[in-house]
Amino acid sequence: MIRQADVLIVGGGPFGLMLSNELGRRGVTAALFDQKPSTAFNPQANATQARTMEHYRRLGFAEEIRSLGLPEEFPTDIAYFTRFAKHELGRFKLPSAREARARVATLSGSWSAAELPHRVSQKYVEQVLRKHAETLPGISINYGWRVAGFEETHQGVTAQVAEVGSDATQEVTAKYLIGGDGSRSLVRRALGIRYAGEAGAVRDFFGGRMYAVYLYSPQFYQAVPFAPAWMNVTFNKDRRAFMAAVDGKGTFAFHTQLRDGESEDKIGDAEALAMFQAAVGEKIAAQILARETWTAGYALVAESFGRGRVLLGGDAAHLFTPAGGLGYNTAIDDAVNLGWKLAAAIKGIGGRALLDSYELERKPTAVRNTGFARTFAESLGLFRPKDGLEDEGPAGEALRKEAGDYLKQHGQKEFNIPGITFGARYDKSPIIVSEDRKPPPDSANEYIPTAQPGGRAPHLWLREGVSLYDTFGFEWTLLRLGSLPPSVDLLVNAAKASKVDLKVVDIGSDDAKELYEAPLALIRPDQIVAWRGSRQDHAIAALPVVLGRA
Ligand SMILES: Cc1cc2nc3c(=O)[nH]c(=O)nc-3n(C[C@H](O)[C@H](O)[C@H](O)COP(=O)(O)OP(=O)(O)OC[C@H]3O[C@@H](n4cnc5c(N)ncnc54)[C@H](O)[C@@H]3O)c2cc1C
Repeated sequence: MIRQADVLIVGGGPFGLMLSNELGRRGVTAALFDQKPSTAFNPQANATQARTMEHYRRLGFAEEIRSLGLPEEFPTDIAYFTRFAKHELGRFKLPSAREARARVATLSGSWSAAELPHRVSQKYVEQVLRKHAETLPGISINYGWRVAGFEETHQGVTAQVAEVGSDATQEVTAKYLIGGDGSRSLVRRALGIRYAGEAGAVRDFFGGRMYAVYLYSPQFYQAVPFAPAWMNVTFNKDRRAFMAAVDGKGTFAFHTQLRDGESEDKIGDAEALAMFQAAVGEKIAAQILARETWTAGYALVAESFGRGRVLLGGDAAHLFTPAGGLGYNTAIDDAVNLGWKLAAAIKGIGGRALLDSYELERKPTAVRNTGFARTFAESLGLFRPKDGLEDEGPAGEALRKEAGDYLKQHGQKEFNIPGITFGARYDKSPIIVSEDRKPPPDSANEYIPTAQPGGRAPHLWLREGVSLYDTFGFEWTLLRLGSLPPSVDLLVNAAKASKVDLKVVDIGSDDAKELYEAPLALIRPDQIVAWRGSRQDHAIAALPVVLGRA
């Protein structure tokens, strides 16, 4: 059993596992403890956003993730039905994994990206994150272990951990303790930090007690007379549900909202099967693999993201209603943001402002993202089915057309979200050399690439299959853009003196210079532009700011 590490991580969900990868790749030691026997069994999140895929590409396993989940050719459409086997109301078409791979190189504007989204269950993603973390020297992943408590000391943090099923605790010491322990976070509660925001919103759908059924029903594909879809949503007065295809062969993550008077304690496998059959509209067979309840209607963000040497990330710091698929992806972005800062703090490269900037950058993003998710939950959940929607004949047809038109445009709003995934900005961060200029508007469905410091570095393809991001260093990158870029030798020396691992990348194209609106741009390890300009002395002056030492 490991007794000491630089970082102790509580929780081995997506946040804790991603943080382990970010730290391990930087030579920082970390011990992760999770009370579950292993990674998640239930599917949970079903959507990996493009920005998350770009992070997986940076770590070298985007392709591995894209090959998981649905078969290569399986459409990732979002389709709306009265009941799955009855009437299709509308469909928002999205590419299969194979099409996404080919299409990404042809896109510009809002979707100018190294990776497109991928629809894959969190349960598969967690296995990959775990596998890669476990190969890293200095990373110790311990499932089946519970963190029972902790104290902060002058030198760091001491935690008490116990193997599940045993009361015997052991002490583990670390320089930092990070709570990635989900919505009921022991770490957050021990710090006395509360969630703030909206809890308990009540809606016709996506607002109330939800029932999740993980099931296997290959018969579904024979019973349903419509094209397969990744996300299947029912819209009727009796049993509203959403259901993601997990492997495209018969396993599904089915979620329905409990009606008034429907009690979760009285639901067994037979009742769960009946719920699924009501949504299908036919009594098809299914094997129930797992059942659980959860609550939709949260848009919560912790009042603070930690204190001293104890910090929070992922669901421990924010709780979403999963409309738009943002909870897990926001957790991954937290881990990426925190990973390089924590490593720099431990190695003595960054100043205190660097770690402080974690909350200053991520808390507003959590408020922004939970807000977007809430809008989507309202757009779907407050739109109610009308009487007669399922009737045969012209009156029913007209109602279905009306509902379908609405749901189709809703689907586009909820699932075509380059603005959310690429557009988060850290303009007010103390470690960004901000410009006195308004950034592009923050909208869910449109992303306007800009190299204005504080946002994601604008992307471009250099040649077939090679993204600008593939040239970036694992730590800092200095882009020299255009045919006549300024010299940067003094800057390189200054970076070396500051112990900054800086890779200089020359991109001779004037298009790149135009895109970045400057011949020099300093890119952080998380691919955020920290500074841009045309003079190396200005970049040298920016170094202490971007390292949190100013
Ligand atoms: C039905 C549903 C659908 C969803 N769909 C999406 C989606 O499409 N897209 C999306 O982005 N998000 C979605 N989410 C949200 C997503 O699942 C979560 O946001 C994500 O799991 C958060 O990751 P995390 O690592 O922060 O926390 P978690 O995954 O909750 O992991 C926390 C871990 O901490 C462990 N733990 C807790 N306390 C202790 C302790 N004291 N000691 C040791 N271990 C402890 C737990 O065992 C757990 O494994 C969905 C959620 C649900 C419920």
